[in-house]
Amino acid sequence: MTEIIDGKLVSKKILQELSEKIALLEKKPSLAVIIVGEDPASKIYVNLKKKKAEELGIVSTVIEMSQDVSESELLNKIDELNKDESVNAILVQMPLPKHIDANKVIEKISPQKDVDCFHAYNVGKIATNNKPFVYPCTPKGILELLNFYNIEISGKHVVVIGRSNIVGRPMAQMLLNKNATVTICHSKTNNLEEITKQADILISAVGKAGLIKKEMVKDNVVVIDVGMNRDENGKLCGDVDFEQVKQKASYITPVPGGVGPMTICSLMVNTFDLFKTSQEKI
Ligand code: NAP
Repeated sequence: MTEIIDGKLVSKKILQELSEKIALLEKKPSLAVIIVGEDPASKIYVNLKKKKAEELGIVSTVIEMSQDVSESELLNKIDELNKDESVNAILVQMPLPKHIDANKVIEKISPQKDVDCFHAYNVGKIATNNKPFVYPCTPKGILELLNFYNIEISGKHVVVIGRSNIVGRPMAQMLLNKNATVTICHSKTNNLEEITKQADILISAVGKAGLIKKEMVKDNVVVIDVGMNRDENGKLCGDVDFEQVKQKASYITPVPGGVGPMTICSLMVNTFDLFKTSQEKI
């Protein structure tokens, strides 16, 4: 029997517990989000984050900067937020306009307020199996899903497709830290199918609808689909041919309703965790 991994259910449970903890606080955690320009998708994401934060009692501020803002103006704004003790978590919505160096922006955010876990300090902490201030949202959410469904990681062969800084790379390292045997695949990987067929757990973070077909997986595989794509009818879908692969999988995430809700859930938990860390310093 295949079990459909329900990201909506798991995230709801985690957020319910989080809102109860926040309700007990006198001083509330706060998240500052910087958005540069008018990209419609970025605006939607930022509004969703703000709405979710407010539902939970997190103080949320959105700082809108124009498309032609200079790099130094943006860096100064981050510096201001770094110094502002009322701000616990800082997020700069990506992508940024081409004239701004995203790496410089990421490195400007104080590691103690780096809610996305993009800063080299926190990334390096994961790479050395040490404690970062927080873990990156999507990989953290995926580990929560595996944990909720009691899916063993230690000793398993996990194949991660995708090596982005946001998903693939940190995911692979976090799994390694949990004693998985990890293989990372990417666009230059030869014979992808030969590798995916060996996976006990397959995590696809590519962004190509229909990439993972039934022939590419073994029986009883656990499939985590991170992809967010549109099919030919404009419907949201993942990287995995869900209907086909479901027939062989022991567990599988749907799109929507799998990894997606977990990402925003992790962002909220991370904001809370950074708030807690800031309190410990006092
Ligand atoms: P990305 O930066 O574009 O990375 C995609 C990765 O896939 C790259 O490493 C690329 O390889 C690899 N790739 C491309 N074509 C491939 C192929 N044919 N075979 C094997 N690997 C291939 O994307 P991302 O930011 O990691 O996001 C990946 C997907 O997840 C997107 O659909 C995104 O929308 C979605 N996403 C969802 C969530 C969520 O919360 N649900 C969160 C983040 C991202 P190279 O490195 O060689 O180019």
